[in-house]
Amino acid sequence: MPPPPPNKEPVLVPPLENGMTKPPIDKPAMVVVQQPAATPITPVPIETGVNVFEDPRIVKLIDGLVNGKLGDITPTVDFSYKYGYAYPSVDSLLDTSDMETVNILETLAQNGILIKQPFEKFNIDPDGQFQLVPTEHCPRDDSSNLIKGQLIEHFSCGYVGLDKDFKQDSRYVCPKCHKDLRLIGTDYRNIGIHYRCQDDGEIFTTPVIKWRNLRTRKEWNQEELKEMEVYSYRFSPDKKGWLEFQLKPKTQLVDFLRVQGYQVQELAQLTGKSGAIHTVDILAIRDDILTKIILGVGILVAGSGESEVGLEALFRFDSRAYDIGINYKVVIAIPRLGAEGINFANRQMIRAFEAKTMAAVVSDITSIPRSRMSLQSNVDAGYQAETSLAAVSANVKTTISRFLRNRGYEVFEQALIAGKSGIEHVFDIFARRDDRIIVPSMAIGIAGSTGRPVELDEISRFDAAAFDSGIRNKVFIAIPQISVQARQFAKQQKIDIIEQNDLGKLL
Ligand SMILES: [Zn+2]
Ligand SMILES: [Zn+2]
Repeated sequence: MPPPPPNKEPVLVPPLENGMTKPPIDKPAMVVVQQPAATPITPVPIETGVNVFEDPRIVKLIDGLVNGKLGDITPTVDFSYKYGYAYPSVDSLLDTSDMETVNILETLAQNGILIKQPFEKFNIDPDGQFQLVPTEHCPRDDSSNLIKGQLIEHFSCGYVGLDKDFKQDSRYVCPKCHKDLRLIGTDYRNIGIHYRCQDDGEIFTTPVIKWRNLRTRKEWNQEELKEMEVYSYRFSPDKKGWLEFQLKPKTQLVDFLRVQGYQVQELAQLTGKSGAIHTVDILAIRDDILTKIILGVGILVAGSGESEVGLEALFRFDSRAYDIGINYKVVIAIPRLGAEGINFANRQMIRAFEAKTMAAVVSDITSIPRSRMSLQSNVDAGYQAETSLAAVSANVKTTISRFLRNRGYEVFEQALIAGKSGIEHVFDIFARRDDRIIVPSMAIGIAGSTGRPVELDEISRFDAAAFDSGIRNKVFIAIPQISVQARQFAKQQKIDIIEQNDLGKLL
């Protein structure tokens, strides 16, 4: 058995070669390139000469349609909506209001991307409101004080009146001649359902119908109402191939992430801690055993007529990401982020790309054969049961380094990292993996005690150093195990704990 290696000199972690990030501080580097106000997406001429790709929200909608994530678009008719109907699935995908959505759908229908079909018709009043209920009126004096019933004629005296005038307990008695009405057809006959105006006594079969607006209380004649048609939309199948081509950069990004070993889901629907359901444009998850990378990509688009993605869209993405528990955040801004947005993204550790830049990064990578992705591990000289603590620690370090290298990580043992405070910290292992879009990194602390569990002070020192160094993924290896108190602390601070018995899973 070889003796444990002596403690090596700390190794300063060099910056990444591609210069995209400034490791080891796990902070997003901004790669958004400010561009002149030129159209960022190549204009696409279509039949009508209108370039639908000028509106980034349309691009997003088309994306959903092309990928089949958004099926037929049918309106939801519900009086709680301002206009009585809406397309909530589209609203939530595009972050648009009811009428903005309708305008977008109309634009796509005009361009032949969507096929429009009549779905429902409403009456709206001259104020444009739909909250209307019918009211019945007397044709003579317009009164709405009406009663409705069966009109009865008493043959012997000729009196005609509504059935309620005849009714006395269980009998029919003529209010004029006071005789009992016994046999229908012989004593009396039913003329039919009629109305009687309580104000002027007018009897009639068809009242005048008017429409009362429940909000404004105004009443309208039938002729004053307008008809509003509501449509459903479906994707025109013959546009698919053409649109798919337009959306290639995104497809490339997804492919790229898959090649990097991520499980990728597009337009993923997730329930957050708050209970709200969120849609993430691209959700990519990779379980690296020592750490789990949950990458959320938001495709943020500028509002119509705006040249930059607003700060609000970025806020929303960030709070959604937080609610879902995404630990790596990437936004693709179409066409770009403003200065405020860039600052916010930096503060919130969001990596931001322009769609164009992203396309370049991704296509660049897909053309490079990947040699780093060798997932097969060399199990030859794996972890062995050792007896002395120093030997065990050294062995663990070797095992973990090899494990991480096999998974494409760049590994630094005794890594020297300068913290924000200016203090330099040495981590047993610092590892990072340049996935180009993000650079997942982690600090690993190894501590061992003979005959007792590793205590809180050790892990809290490690945690403070990691915090000062801006490292988010923290793994602490305790040999042989960790104390209860220290475990609680680790849980609070989101430090993954690996004990001696768990090491087998890294082989
Ligand atoms: Zn009347
Ligand atoms: Zn009578």
